[in-house]
Amino acid sequence: MSVVKEFGFELRVCAWAERNWPPGATAVGAPIVARQLGTKRRRWDTIVVETAESGLEERAPFGGARLGSELLFLARHAPASWAYYRECLPDPGYPWRYVREAIHEADDRGFLETRRDGNRIEIRRRYRYPAWVDRIVAIENKPDLDAAAARRLGEQLEHDVALGLADEVWLATETTAEGVEPALLEAMPVEVGILVVSPESGSRSCEPVWRPRTLAAAEPGTRILDRPGDGRSAARFEYADPTWKRRKRLEIAERAYERGWRSYAGTMRPDCRHFELTDPTGPFPRCAAKGRPQTAAECSGSCSLFEPEPPAWRDGGWPIAGGPGRAAKRLLDRKRDRRR
Ligand code: SF4
Repeated sequence: MSVVKEFGFELRVCAWAERNWPPGATAVGAPIVARQLGTKRRRWDTIVVETAESGLEERAPFGGARLGSELLFLARHAPASWAYYRECLPDPGYPWRYVREAIHEADDRGFLETRRDGNRIEIRRRYRYPAWVDRIVAIENKPDLDAAAARRLGEQLEHDVALGLADEVWLATETTAEGVEPALLEAMPVEVGILVVSPESGSRSCEPVWRPRTLAAAEPGTRILDRPGDGRSAARFEYADPTWKRRKRLEIAERAYERGWRSYAGTMRPDCRHFELTDPTGPFPRCAAKGRPQTAAECSGSCSLFEPEPPAWRDGGWPIAGGPGRAAKRLLDRKRDRRR
């Protein structure tokens, strides 16, 4: 049940962040909220990309799909006037043939123009890639924080603080009638903010009880590779250079832009007759057969209770075209597009 709770908790924190970010302050822009994003080594439960409406407008011509690392390289460096690609782009750090492939993809996506001069491919940008990301905030969700979980999480969050890939790191946890045990919160690094979520409050109530420090995202960071607790062996660290951090931050923001947090419908089974969406502030998924919210992992074709929507539901233009499953997907896609 705890996995079920964590998934539901995560969706509620996302819904709350979308409406109320930054906590306790007047909204300054249009946050993009996404789930389960990060790097190869670290994935955060919730990511908030702080941006402004003007930044989103300037990002829009590049399309709803994310720009991966090769497309980002072109978007950021393509010239305003025609030039041979190998003479106008900086050394990509990987073979030029990947750049050539990306040039054709960027041309198809419509943000780059190409022409041939003999054997040479010349390029020219159609739009300037904007500086649309103001700040990136990482939130770790832990509704049930006992002493052991707090200790483990505290160590993990120390790694996040040392790396400084996000501008802020937060922990979101659930309050009880007695409030949050102060000893548990003391296990957290002081740089990490703490959001307390009231149970059963839908997406309405998250309260910051500790403000985070702004991390030096533009400065070099430290990757903690190993920190033995035996007091005898030395910890191992690695340097994370600012160029890598800048690139990773943009890649994370691009993925957040593409996916938002409602992309759960893509991996769940809204075409199952028991799949429901509840609470317009989300909406959040619920399984009628199980009588409770289900996780993305259990809501799959291998679920023993899975039953496809009856074909009759898809006839007669229900409610416009397709069955309830398609309608649920459309609703979630529309909500995500509205954020962009
Ligand atoms: S029965 Fe299984 S597949 Fe269908 S909605 Fe419930 S969890 Fe998802």
